[in-house]
Amino acid sequence: MASHIVGYPRMGPKRELKFALESFWDGKSSAEDLQTVAADLRSSIWKQMADAGIKYIPSNTFSYYDQVLDTTTMLGAVPPRYNWNGVEIGFDTYFSMARGNASVPAMEMTKWFDTNYHYIVPELGPEVKFSYASHKAVNEYKEAKALGVDTVPVFVGPVSYLLLSKPAKGVEKTFDLLSLLDKILPIYKEVIAELKEAGATWIQFDEATLVKDLEAYQLEVFTKAYTDLESACSGLNVLVATYFADVPADAFKVLTTLPGVTGYTFDLVRGEKTLDLIKTSFPSGKYLFAGVVDGRNIWANDLAGSLSVLESLEAIVGKDKLVVSTSSSLQHTAVDLVNETKLDDEIKSWLAFAAQKVVEVGALAKALAGQKDEAFFAANAAAQASRKCSPRVTNEAVQKAAAALRGSDHRRATNVSARLDAQQKKLNLPILPTTTIGSFPQTIELRRVRREYKAKKISEEEYVKAIKEEIFKVVQLQEELDIDVLVHGEPERNDMVEYFGEQLSGFAFTANGWVQSYGSRCVKPPIIYGDVSRPKAMTVFWSTMAQEMTKRPMKGMLTGPVTILNWSFVRNDQPRFETCYQIALAIKDEVEDLEKAGITVIQIDEAALREGLPLRKAEHAFYLDWAVHSFRITNVGVQDTTQIHTHMCYSNFNDIIHSIINMDADVITIENSRSDEKLLSVFREGVKYGAGIGPGVYDIHSPRIPSMEEIHDRINKMLAVLETNILWVNPDCGLKTRKYAEVKPALENMVAAAKKLRAAL
Ligand code: GLN
Ligand code: ZN
Repeated sequence: MASHIVGYPRMGPKRELKFALESFWDGKSSAEDLQTVAADLRSSIWKQMADAGIKYIPSNTFSYYDQVLDTTTMLGAVPPRYNWNGVEIGFDTYFSMARGNASVPAMEMTKWFDTNYHYIVPELGPEVKFSYASHKAVNEYKEAKALGVDTVPVFVGPVSYLLLSKPAKGVEKTFDLLSLLDKILPIYKEVIAELKEAGATWIQFDEATLVKDLEAYQLEVFTKAYTDLESACSGLNVLVATYFADVPADAFKVLTTLPGVTGYTFDLVRGEKTLDLIKTSFPSGKYLFAGVVDGRNIWANDLAGSLSVLESLEAIVGKDKLVVSTSSSLQHTAVDLVNETKLDDEIKSWLAFAAQKVVEVGALAKALAGQKDEAFFAANAAAQASRKCSPRVTNEAVQKAAAALRGSDHRRATNVSARLDAQQKKLNLPILPTTTIGSFPQTIELRRVRREYKAKKISEEEYVKAIKEEIFKVVQLQEELDIDVLVHGEPERNDMVEYFGEQLSGFAFTANGWVQSYGSRCVKPPIIYGDVSRPKAMTVFWSTMAQEMTKRPMKGMLTGPVTILNWSFVRNDQPRFETCYQIALAIKDEVEDLEKAGITVIQIDEAALREGLPLRKAEHAFYLDWAVHSFRITNVGVQDTTQIHTHMCYSNFNDIIHSIINMDADVITIENSRSDEKLLSVFREGVKYGAGIGPGVYDIHSPRIPSMEEIHDRINKMLAVLETNILWVNPDCGLKTRKYAEVKPALENMVAAAKKLRAAL
């Protein structure tokens, strides 16, 4: 019985690639140094898979930045502004496209399907001259072969590549990206020919766009592409990989009748209908790569369960045609559990990171072949059982409370206009009130204080004193700037999700559970393993301390349930909405405690609400329904006079505007400064609805200091659409990554612009 891995994390168990990249970018190490680190990582991954007995081991899943950018590079599709000279693409051009250089900004980045990974979007137009400009895939195949490992080179499939691209500037509305198929296939063929010559016997094309909502004309292009590639691929086994969901029935039909294809990978974890499709219509004689080991999560596989699924599949496709695989690339999970020193043994026994998942795949394949490692399976069964009945996982009171939520609406009794009136009587704010989104610059000194407190190098007293001083500085600065609604600056927080997770029950934290977000950037999501509850108040101490320092309203600052959920590794033993409702109840208690402590404005950030949107449109409504419901639960219990803000850091709202309004917040602050036009419709809806709206008036992602005139103009433009009484003036997002030297003058200009407009109104 054979085994296969769709793809593997590149970053290294301790983010070795990140550090090598950043040191190279800073000019502190050479290109060879970087290449050495990369080659070591690749060889250790190949060796690890070979040791686990994996038969189909991927190559070309390594990347210095991003696999889509690697494909752009292979195809020589460099946008002209990077002045590439037309020979093999090296680090200079590659990293310029990825990160920009002194004279040209980077290419656009966007989310990879519904993951937290971001890829570099190819920009294609009728002018692009494709050429075979990077031999990376062939080189990596040869490199593995020299190490004694015969690999399956992996490519972003040609159709998915085009579907994931965007039309170049100037032809945005008119250009048909799929019309480029005939121009890119010759390059793919050149690569295929070289791979064959180097001895490759399998090749993998990732065509995960097949799980999305595709139109018939788009599906036809798959048939066209693989028909065209067929003869070039003769003598090679072609594997087409899909992941992240089931392939819809019409696409499944197209996929399974593609000419020249030997096998398919399917996601059996997220793909709820995959099993049925296979049972009813898997083509005979083809290989089924069954993705039973989850590539998107950190849980140990239920090996006994997987084994029985695999046995049932074996009966359908035949013993020699079934291959055990992962549901997707392991790129989206953490790298190696071995480096986790903080987690206790019980929790560790429930987990499997990429390295452990490889072993699981190998063990399942062996078991199917009649060589079951009984001890390994027994240990796994024991861990599964302990997870099921552990008191650390189940909290009956929480389960009951969350179950009771369903079916009710949880909406504040008074409508938003009436609430805003009641709030205004209490708050007495000027028109165009000014505020900020929460965090103030995080200095090195501040990080040191937090680190030393965590490491117990300084006492609680010393820590509180240091943070208090910081809050005082931030409050004073805001008073000097004459901002209307203040924040405490979040100096006690390292991360907006981790801070809450650490204080809630049911969360665990890893030391090295990093997942690549983009380029060298990684995130370390908390693990939600149990029912979530709040043992005690989390923010009241700091918020009331800050409120006592000023007569102006001090915003309480919380992270919303949907964002906490979407930025964590979540339980796979209950639906996502269940976990979200539990978090919502914990945040609700916090909101009410803040209100009791005299905090009259409370911001509940939902930075990641949009990120959780499912891949397929048919599933959007259900997600948005429980996500928005969860948000409302957090603040349904407050008085009319308590003002609830929410903040979201993206501006792509058009398709979810009704859900945003359905959150029923009093004030919504949103990112805006990079996309004025798109937001217009949101503004209009906002006017109808009556809530306060604070579209960011300047971009905090850049060190640039906006002038007073510029901000003034921007607010003026908004006023053309919005009524004065609902418009708030604030930056795009939190200021934590900026320096005081940027923040002070920028906020000064922002307040001055608001005042000038007030005077003129
Ligand atoms: N309150 C958070 C901050 O200001 C919000 C961050 C975010 O939206 N990503 O940092
Ligand atoms: Zn934000």
